[in-house]
Amino acid sequence: MLLDRLTQVAAERAGRALTRRRRTAHTACAPLQSTSDGHGEARPLLGFCSNDYLGLANHPAVIEAFAQGARRYGAGSGASHLVSGHSLAHHELEAHLARWLAPHIPQAQALYFCTGYMANMGVLSALGTADAMLFCDKLNHASLIDGALLARATVRRYLHCDTASLARLLAASNSPLKLIVTDSVFSMDGDMAPLKALLALAERYDAWIIVDDAHGFGVLGEQGHGVLEALGLSSERFIYIGTLGKAAGVAGAFVAAHEAIIEHLVNTARPYIYTTAAPPAVAHALLASLAILEGEEGKQRRAQLTRCIAMLRDGLARLAAIAGWTLGDSETAIQPLIVGDNGAALALSATLEADGIRVGAIRPPTVPEGTARLRITLSASHTEDDVRRLLDALSAAVAQREAA
Ligand SMILES: *Cc1c(COP(=O)(O)O)cnc(C)c1O
Repeated sequence: MLLDRLTQVAAERAGRALTRRRRTAHTACAPLQSTSDGHGEARPLLGFCSNDYLGLANHPAVIEAFAQGARRYGAGSGASHLVSGHSLAHHELEAHLARWLAPHIPQAQALYFCTGYMANMGVLSALGTADAMLFCDKLNHASLIDGALLARATVRRYLHCDTASLARLLAASNSPLKLIVTDSVFSMDGDMAPLKALLALAERYDAWIIVDDAHGFGVLGEQGHGVLEALGLSSERFIYIGTLGKAAGVAGAFVAAHEAIIEHLVNTARPYIYTTAAPPAVAHALLASLAILEGEEGKQRRAQLTRCIAMLRDGLARLAAIAGWTLGDSETAIQPLIVGDNGAALALSATLEADGIRVGAIRPPTVPEGTARLRITLSASHTEDDVRRLLDALSAAVAQREAA
């Protein structure tokens, strides 16, 4: 019977140190956040696990715009976009985002989705018709994997960031619609897809590139316009997805692509059509967050993030050498410290927590077996002192382990 079966599955999961638990936040997303485990009192922990890379989730101007948006448009949208839920705030947001991506995608339009997960499901299912072929990086985010499952297209996976592996698959394909699908910055490793080389392959084999810039939008590029700005790329072959709950600090996502593609999504992407539009206040708040991203403050925040990344990597490289850990090959705000064993990753995370620091232990199936890790993420709202505290706590954990 179902409940007996689930009890057994839960016991097996626990035996492999794979049980997942939530903590409950009692205060806003910020480096110092009060959380509880559901039993004890809430206490403040210095966190290195949010994706709020620029500290905008708790920014006064964004919060004020959210409140103003709610006063103007109400709390909810009331319907899906194609019925009556599409507001002026959504419209302005899409127009603004289309302007950002226009230098990189000729005739770009943008389409706002409630979440990045839904944007990926929508794009892959709408474009991945039965005669299409999807070429997916092996380490793509779960939402791209699920989108590929929803699509009727044939799915091929190439070795992580391996253009030779991809080229072989493209050369062997006679599909009339080839779609390369990749994260820009990989979410659990922090490394970057070789987009320039991918574009060269796309041109050679007449393919399109669906690029998920969840961890690049707002952070990468001089103006924060994302990975295409950072790499100086422009092509109508790009179908760009940026998420707005990470560096942009609010919620949702958008697809930017040639206007014919966006028109097709509006008409056929089921995760767009059959869901209530996000509250217009969310879009109104996002307009404030975009204004910060492209202004002087955005530049300063990105510079602070860059300083923290350099300092952390420096310290982690030294520690990893002593402790026998592997430091990921990442120059982004995502810095994985690969410990290997699930139990060891959990134990290290627990040691840090006892020290008042919160870093998530990421285990399979989110990452491959044997590569359990601490996924350390940085934000522009971290100070150099915060980073030093983390490095000191990790040093103490290593010393404690050596002594035991
Ligand atoms: C977080 C994430 C998503 C999902 O975006 P949400 O807006 O949180 O649903 C998609 N792709 C990648 C690579 C992500 O890291």
